[in-house]
Amino acid sequence: MPIAPDSQTRLFAVFGHPVSHSLSPAMHQAAFEALGLNAVYLAFDVDEASLPAALAGLQALGAGGVNLTIPLKRRAFEILPRLDLSARLLGAVNTVAFGPDGMTGYNTDGIGFLRDLQATADMTPDGRHVCIVGCGGAGRAISLTCATQGAATVTLANRTPDRSRLIAAEVRQQAPAVQVEVLAGAPAAWSGAIRAADLVVHCTPVGLHAGDESVLSAAAFRPGQVVYDLIYTVPVTPVMQVARAAGARVCNGLGMLVQQGAASFAIWTHQEPDIARMRAAIEPLIHRCCLEKRDDAR
Ligand code: NAP
Repeated sequence: MPIAPDSQTRLFAVFGHPVSHSLSPAMHQAAFEALGLNAVYLAFDVDEASLPAALAGLQALGAGGVNLTIPLKRRAFEILPRLDLSARLLGAVNTVAFGPDGMTGYNTDGIGFLRDLQATADMTPDGRHVCIVGCGGAGRAISLTCATQGAATVTLANRTPDRSRLIAAEVRQQAPAVQVEVLAGAPAAWSGAIRAADLVVHCTPVGLHAGDESVLSAAAFRPGQVVYDLIYTVPVTPVMQVARAAGARVCNGLGMLVQQGAASFAIWTHQEPDIARMRAAIEPLIHRCCLEKRDDAR
């Protein structure tokens, strides 16, 4: 049932800059409605400079919680007075809970990835050879998550190797038992090392736009491998197409998006949301976005 807001309605939000593309309002509103909770979830365009005031404002209004997206995750890590272990591990905050004793920062990206990897590919990183392609914010989160979940090796591949070297140092610090390798040079030179991995996680935005070509060639993939692309707005990305043709099992990032949202929801409400309803709420929006991109490319 749709919520009819009244004086008891609890406010939840996502902050980002930009934020107009966010699927979180539709996803969380569907979860509130499925459980009959009197809550609304709105998106606000907030830049880094405004983040402290925006968080304080929501707290003063008695809001239940907020999600943070680009570019606010690192800044929130720096300013929040209290951080859950999940945020401390990843050095970034994507979920803030407002309680009687103040704000707490969490990060649900890692648990979202792990839950979807289990649900979609029936896999955990434990004992696996994991390769991360793309070492920005998401690549960093997935690298640290896989390393601390018992991956045997973590191989990092990035266009700019300085970034992958920094993440390698963090992984070695957080998970000293894990063997870490940094791949240098052009993507063609990475194929052998990537092919050896059990799990390849593609963490670049290449594939988001019509006409994008896979950063990796068929030589990087093989049967028996799981290839997980974090992109969630394209059902089968260029990397997934190439990997699937080479015999690998492939998934996109939609399941992770829903699972990280579900984990935020549970932190705020102490209730488990209806994941199928959350996913169903955003699938038509993604479909529409894909059609618009295809039209733009014509
Ligand atoms: P980011 O911090 O901007 O990092 C992007 C990374 O991709 C960088 O390492 C960059 O390399 C690399 N890259 C960009 N363009 C490239 C190109 N043309 N060729 C090769 N490498 C390129 O972005 P992010 O936040 O990590 O997000 C990455 C992707 O993950 C996005 O598509 C995002 O939507 C997705 N994501 C999904 C979820 C989910 O829930 N499914 C969650 C988070 C992110 P350089 O270092 O050389 O610039």
